[in-house]
Amino acid sequence: MPETFFPEKFADISETKPSHTSVPHIDPAFCATTRAYGALGENGPIAQMSIERRALLPDDVAIDILYCGVCHSDIHMVRGEWGEQRYPMVPGHEFVGRVTAVGQAVTRFSPGDYAGVGCMVDSCCTCANCEAGLEQYCTAGATLTYASPDPRGDAQTQGGYSERIVVRERFVVKVPDGADLATTAPLLCSGVTTFSPMQHWRLGSGQGFAVIGLGGLGHMALKLAVHRGAEATVFTTSEDKVQDAYDMGAKDVVVWHPEASNPIPLADELAKQFDFMLSTIPFPFDLAPFLPMVRQDGAFVNVGAPGIIGGVTGAGLWDQRRSLVGSCIGGMPETQDLVDYCCANAIRPQIELIRPDQITDAYLRVENKQVRYRFVIDLASNRAG
Ligand code: NAP
Ligand code: ZN
Repeated sequence: MPETFFPEKFADISETKPSHTSVPHIDPAFCATTRAYGALGENGPIAQMSIERRALLPDDVAIDILYCGVCHSDIHMVRGEWGEQRYPMVPGHEFVGRVTAVGQAVTRFSPGDYAGVGCMVDSCCTCANCEAGLEQYCTAGATLTYASPDPRGDAQTQGGYSERIVVRERFVVKVPDGADLATTAPLLCSGVTTFSPMQHWRLGSGQGFAVIGLGGLGHMALKLAVHRGAEATVFTTSEDKVQDAYDMGAKDVVVWHPEASNPIPLADELAKQFDFMLSTIPFPFDLAPFLPMVRQDGAFVNVGAPGIIGGVTGAGLWDQRRSLVGSCIGGMPETQDLVDYCCANAIRPQIELIRPDQITDAYLRVENKQVRYRFVIDLASNRAG
């Protein structure tokens, strides 16, 4: 049976009533018909299409999207790997753009500002988690940026592979003046998803850190951990990423072979070495070779595979009082903190800029572990005048 990403959120949102009943505010500068790039089915290419954006509510922000990252989650979703989907689906949940119009109640943005949007565009905003700035854990279920029923409109949400979007102000972050926009986009998902667990489990200077999988999330995790002063080790299945990992600040790099009977050569030498291990592996995997590497009171954090993680034994956890935990993106205050922090400290993803007509090929390259290290779609140069 296929796993469904956040199944309870889909179920709950369909029951949610619009939180605003006031008359929509339509700014003359805002054009609802929007060029977008999406999938018509799970096997099809990412094709150009037109979608309609809803009119602005008083606390909405309209954004002309300039750059949008390609996350492996987009591929899982388009391919139906996380459960049955509705099409057309316009993916994209890490993007930046320019504000073109704001509703009357918006206080933080004005037309002309640069802004970013991540994986969520709405939540109940009243439960304890939302009040704590943990909207991703909203008890009613957050509205995802795409493929979620939209409590503010009739349709399902459509994401950032498009030229315009309307988003509730709370779910829009400010992009600092002077920030490079293309390399800011991936911070909205890959950045905050790896930053949030480091904050929560307090990854600190001098601690042993390991990231498994050097892709979009993994290379951001490496850069963030190095910046915090952690001693970082990279586990990669790709021999040709070894030098890059060192260049990004890794202290050690281990090439491993998931399918082999002995997947990690010299694993015994790594026993109890890491305070914090982060897996970004997109698919089910076997934890058995990694768990012994977690040090006393350390944590193995999964942000990758939503499916089965095998090889866990009770004794493997009670030995060294290890924690096996997971983490989901980041809340809105934390997302703003991360964007500010990366811009202030020049922590940038390594990106490959692509045109919209290259997205289909880009998906194949991500699946083949060939991206270095995040594709970003240039929607700015493609924009109609
Ligand atoms: P990505 O760019 O494809 O990176 C994943 C890396 O994992 C690959 O580059 C590869 O690194 C390694 N890998 C791939 N397949 C593997 C396999 N079968 N066995 C072992 N290693 C493998 O993907 P991403 O965009 O970073 O996303 C990673 C995962 O996180 C995806 O499943 C995505 O859906 C999920 N995600 C979760 C959250 C959350 O909130 N928890 C947020 C965003 C994304 P090497 O070549 O170095 O081995
Ligand atoms: Zn993502």
